[in-house]
Amino acid sequence: MRRYIFEIAVAFLLLVVTAVFLICNYLYFDNRSDITTIVVIVSTLCLAGIAFHSSRHMVNKELEAKARLERLADSINAAVIVWDADFHYRYVNFEFTKIFGYSEEDIRNGNEILHKVLPEDAFMPSLQAIINNRDEEFHVTAKNGESIATIWNTSIMEIIEKSDASGTKQYILMSIGYDLTELLNTKQELADSEKKYALSMELSEIGILLLHPGEHTLYVSEQLRNMFLLPEGDITIKEIRDIVHRKDSATIETIVSYVKGYRKTDTTVIHDASLRCKSSDGSYKWYQFRYRLIASPNSDAYGLGGSVIDITKDKEKDSLIEKMAYVDEVTGLFNRNRFMQVGQEAFEVTRDSNADYWVIITDIDNFHIINDTTGYENGNKLLQRMASIVTSQSSAGGYVARIGGDNFALIVADTGNESLPIAIINTIQTELRETKSDTFKTQTITCSAGYCKMSDSSIDFSKVLDQAEFSLSLSDGSRESVIRYDNKVHERVLRDAETEKEIAEAIENKEFVLFYQPKISLIDGSLMGMEALIRWIKPDGRIVPPVQFIPIAEKSMSITQISNFVLNEACRQNKEWQDKGLQKLTVSVNLTSVDFYQTDVISNIKTVLETTNLSPEYLDIELTESLALKDIDNAVSQMDEIRNLGVKLSMDDFGTGYSSLSYIQVLPISLLKLDRSFIMYLEQDEMSKEIVSAVIRIAKCKRIETIAEGVENAEQAAILRQSGCDYVQGYLFGKPMPADKFEEFITEHNKKLAENTGDFIHQAAG
Ligand code: C2E
Ligand code: MG
Ligand code: MG
Repeated sequence: MRRYIFEIAVAFLLLVVTAVFLICNYLYFDNRSDITTIVVIVSTLCLAGIAFHSSRHMVNKELEAKARLERLADSINAAVIVWDADFHYRYVNFEFTKIFGYSEEDIRNGNEILHKVLPEDAFMPSLQAIINNRDEEFHVTAKNGESIATIWNTSIMEIIEKSDASGTKQYILMSIGYDLTELLNTKQELADSEKKYALSMELSEIGILLLHPGEHTLYVSEQLRNMFLLPEGDITIKEIRDIVHRKDSATIETIVSYVKGYRKTDTTVIHDASLRCKSSDGSYKWYQFRYRLIASPNSDAYGLGGSVIDITKDKEKDSLIEKMAYVDEVTGLFNRNRFMQVGQEAFEVTRDSNADYWVIITDIDNFHIINDTTGYENGNKLLQRMASIVTSQSSAGGYVARIGGDNFALIVADTGNESLPIAIINTIQTELRETKSDTFKTQTITCSAGYCKMSDSSIDFSKVLDQAEFSLSLSDGSRESVIRYDNKVHERVLRDAETEKEIAEAIENKEFVLFYQPKISLIDGSLMGMEALIRWIKPDGRIVPPVQFIPIAEKSMSITQISNFVLNEACRQNKEWQDKGLQKLTVSVNLTSVDFYQTDVISNIKTVLETTNLSPEYLDIELTESLALKDIDNAVSQMDEIRNLGVKLSMDDFGTGYSSLSYIQVLPISLLKLDRSFIMYLEQDEMSKEIVSAVIRIAKCKRIETIAEGVENAEQAAILRQSGCDYVQGYLFGKPMPADKFEEFITEHNKKLAENTGDFIHQAAG
């Protein structure tokens, strides 16, 4: 009404002016009818104008309000309904259509939409709730029928008087609705994570302890109460003291005095304490108490908050780790680390007193082959058996250990009897030989040993162990060998040093020559190839076998020069024979691990093949298994490169190293050479037979051919042929011989073979 005061005043003034005009007309112009008519018409027109202006103004105001609300609604990032207080739809914003999936067309008939959106039974109460201006949560049905959780807030935006000038007021309401789906998801996630948290607290059994600043009793969580069977409700420090092990009472008192000496600055520091407490089952367990001081905001009172976790298992793990560092897992004996420690202690006793010790190291002959053929678990059983045999031989003041693979070591106090170590070793050998089980029924298990006296002339225990190990290494693969480190062995060490010097001179003087040994096929007796074996012919004519200088050359690195000579000479000689029209054969050359791991080994082989003009398929490189074990990945890639040259690869002395059959299978070799130690007893020993046939079988599966070394009699050859072995090499068919003799051998062998009608094995033997 106030908005139209101007129009009312003008209308009122107009009425007054009209009345003045009519009175004047009556008083001064004898009430002339024409004047009266004009005045009435003018005033009526003026009144109509005022009324028209007023109504226009009101409509404009309404339109303005509507436009303003629509703009406002569109700017809100939520569903908005603008409506009258009598629940008549006026406007919904774009967000509303987006959330509930309605098009603009759908909502043109607003009330219908609202009925669709809100379920009929919820409609009225909902509207009521909306008008009551509360945070009202209800589900809205989207166009696709989906029920969407929403929360609504409603405000009165405008109060407009109705344009019909009836004076009634019109309330414009704006309801803003938020989609709760996301919020509910978050809530669910929160609830889930809360559950998880509670569960993890329960499972990990973390107990909570809280001392509020200024209070004297402690709050304990349910977990903590269950951990220690504490009474219900808050507890006192006495109850804590009662459960702490007396050995850790100092720890708890330290914490108490720390809390009492509270500083505000300390509250950020988190402390840890490990202590033993009586657990709910009555046993003492290890717990970790992690705590922090709590500051009171308005006083100097102290408080403390902390968590308690059972760490018994961790403590057990720690001691297990410690144990693992010193105890061999398979046998439970000391491992090498621990043996070195106790050995050093014994060594110091030897140095400081008259007490002496023996150090014995044993090695199960061909253990790794037993391991491969009978299975890892049975291998472990054998190690455990060996452990108990060796332990039974230890005496007071002595020690037993498994110092690696199948090597067991003993430290035995010296009783003054020089034959004591031999007696111990013989007993171990006898007991091991007599080991009978389902797995090792037919096999005779043997072991070799090396031993030495712990002498105070050594620098430390590791040198003593070196001596025993060196002696063991001299057993050279033969069974049940026992070697003592004595003056003779010591002299050998000195001799080796001398040989080292001589080798260097021999290379200069060209004292090395190659011998060749034939390799024969077990299928038809044909000559398949020859192995080039080096000989050192001294100026006095004495022939030094390779075992006496190759290992020394390896140590001094002069092996590279020797190997280059062998490679060149073998290829040159083979090509010469081929050019002479002799049978084309493959020549095998032995390379050591030192050669093999030289970076230029591949280019060396390539160069030799180029300079000698030998086709690569007539060259075979023999490598030992121990070489591959050093670095299997590198070995495989290096071997691949050799194979890529077209050169063959053989695994020499198979069975004497520590590799496993599965290992061999990953190496790109075409021929496996069974070591002489298996062949030596083949005709007498079941175990050798079993091992040999198992290895041949496995190799066949992998398409690897087999050759037996050191075949000396027809019986061995027959067994090998029966077992499926492809080739043989040994004195039975020909010893290593100089080049001129081998040349004759080729011709003669082929002549014999052509004439032969009987069995070539017996012929060779005869
Ligand atoms: P290897 O490569 O396993 O060679 C086989 C050895 O067994 C040869 O010994 C050979 O004479 C011997 N042998 C062959 N058949 C029989 C047999 O029926 N009975 C017996 N008792 N022995 C037999 P050799 O020539 O003394 O060589 C010994 C080892 O020295 C070789 O074993 C090889 O590892 C190494 N060797 C030989 N020549 C070379 C070489 O040129 N370079 C390198 N790096 N090592 C070589
Ligand atoms: Mg060889
Ligand atoms: Mg060999």
